[in-house]
Amino acid sequence: MEEPVFDPRELGLEDEIVFACHPGVPCFNKCCYDVHLVLSPYDFLRLRRGLGLPPQEFIERYGEAYIGEVTQLPVVAVYMNPHDFACPFLRPEGCSVYQDRPSACRTYPLARYLREDPETGEHQEIYRIIRETHCKGHYEKRPIKVRDFIAEQGLEPYLHFNDLFGKVVAQRQRHAETPLTADQLDLIFLACYDLPRFREEILAGRLECPYLEDPSEASEEDLLEAGIRFVLEKVLVFD
Ligand code: SF4
Ligand code: SF4
Repeated sequence: MEEPVFDPRELGLEDEIVFACHPGVPCFNKCCYDVHLVLSPYDFLRLRRGLGLPPQEFIERYGEAYIGEVTQLPVVAVYMNPHDFACPFLRPEGCSVYQDRPSACRTYPLARYLREDPETGEHQEIYRIIRETHCKGHYEKRPIKVRDFIAEQGLEPYLHFNDLFGKVVAQRQRHAETPLTADQLDLIFLACYDLPRFREEILAGRLECPYLEDPSEASEEDLLEAGIRFVLEKVLVFD
């Protein structure tokens, strides 16, 4: 896989890119091989729900769950096919999980960064263009604002949950020298990835999560929102 080159220009939401991806581009599907596809909790929710699979079954069929080397937090990743390194969701006609494709697939060819303005302390959202020679979408003469590209790709809920989970990663990194116990790791996996069991544990009274009004009726999005808060306030607690 070639090394991606990042355009040095930093873009904001109102800046314009020139890009389009559609079945007519000569490189159609080429970017769906040899991808390191790590799923955020919301990516995982959408993909396994779209496929109608419980969390464990999705993991057994398509990838693995492990403790990330950098974050020291549970991670779920999708394995590429061993024979041709294609994403297991790729079909000749395109992505078979397009409606629920992960955020990385939606964001490409942009990379998104969050940072604080050192003077005002304000939260800034920065984008940079990734250029890879196989990607011919950059030659499609379609100007589009970053804001409109984000909307077109249905990224809003993904960014909301990814930013929320980013707080978990930041909290973990602030205490990176403190190892997590097996119980803490299990609870993080439960509350961020295994939402059906998270609900069951709350309903059975084995877990106290004060952030849900009615756990039996809560949507999986509500469960994930509460689960991330639960991890931040009840699990990743360091004295
Ligand atoms: S999920 Fe879809 S878009 Fe993403 S790599 Fe796999 S086939 Fe391609
Ligand atoms: S390589 Fe670029 S233009 Fe081609 S299918 Fe992938 S994202 Fe679209």
